[in-house]
Amino acid sequence: MRVLPRHLRIALLVAACLSVLAIPTPATAAPALPMPAGWPLRGAPVVQQGFSPPALAWASGHRGIDLVARPGEEILAAASGTVRFAESIAGKPVVSIDHGSVRTTYEPVVSTLRVGERVELGQVIGVLKTGGHCLGCLHWGLREGRNYLDPLLLVGNRGGRLRLVAESQREVVEREDAARAMAAGSATQTSAVTPSARLGSHGFLHPVIGAVTSGFGMRLHPLRKVWKLHDGTDFAAACGTAIRAPYAGVVTRAFFNPAYGNRLFLSHGSVDGVQVKTAFNHAARYLVRPGQRVSRGQLIGEVGSTGLSTGCHLHLMVWLNGQLSNPMSWL
Ligand SMILES: [Zn+2]
Ligand SMILES: [Zn+2]
Repeated sequence: MRVLPRHLRIALLVAACLSVLAIPTPATAAPALPMPAGWPLRGAPVVQQGFSPPALAWASGHRGIDLVARPGEEILAAASGTVRFAESIAGKPVVSIDHGSVRTTYEPVVSTLRVGERVELGQVIGVLKTGGHCLGCLHWGLREGRNYLDPLLLVGNRGGRLRLVAESQREVVEREDAARAMAAGSATQTSAVTPSARLGSHGFLHPVIGAVTSGFGMRLHPLRKVWKLHDGTDFAAACGTAIRAPYAGVVTRAFFNPAYGNRLFLSHGSVDGVQVKTAFNHAARYLVRPGQRVSRGQLIGEVGSTGLSTGCHLHLMVWLNGQLSNPMSWL
């Protein structure tokens, strides 16, 4: 048997590894998107969770968008095409439709369509089931080969939807900025403010876009059934929702606590003459590390339900001059 030179064997091994890992590469040419195209739901769908694809193929991320929808709601083809897939993957019903070079996916959706069947834009392709990664939502995906694309590209040319497109693009840009800043050792001081995020009188943002479900003060603890101080403000949001730095600062600590789950502390220094610190609790994970500088609006983590928690939410805490305070008195 002929033995290959060592450098050639290494080169072949590297090539084999790269083909197995299938690292997603940015599409070099603009994808050929089906036209016309539209939303997979009737009315004016609300984006619950935007597109934030992982930098690496195997990393976690959100490879599509989540639209608020009721179980049993009819799901529509986003463009004309051919049914590529309509069955369950790991117990989750998925429908996918080919539109030339791109494919749209819909889950969890049960369909009676057959593979190879032709569908038209707006045609009912199935009904929404429960059991996806968010409660009451349709996960809508768009891909071109191995590349995941933002499905909002399909509806971005419609009036009134551009804000959502900008928001999801901002998320990708911010993630790239954070990765670059992490590599460089210091974050860039941009003030990336999410358009729909609320800005308080001291210039602090709400760290998640979600309803306040429990305020600061005495309450009967939902799990421990005792009256105690609820030492922060709860924002309800689906697991995976972006948590953003409410203000520029430095990450001082990040650790797990059995009650607060995954915690992250930010020190914002002196703001309007007050020393301000914030803490984030119950997150699924954080994307920044102690010592790192963060800018206002920067993506710092994802909402979760770690620790003593009854569901996905962010428990935000604020200290003013070292005194634990009502976050809403400052935000
Ligand atoms: Zn999703
Ligand atoms: Zn709470």
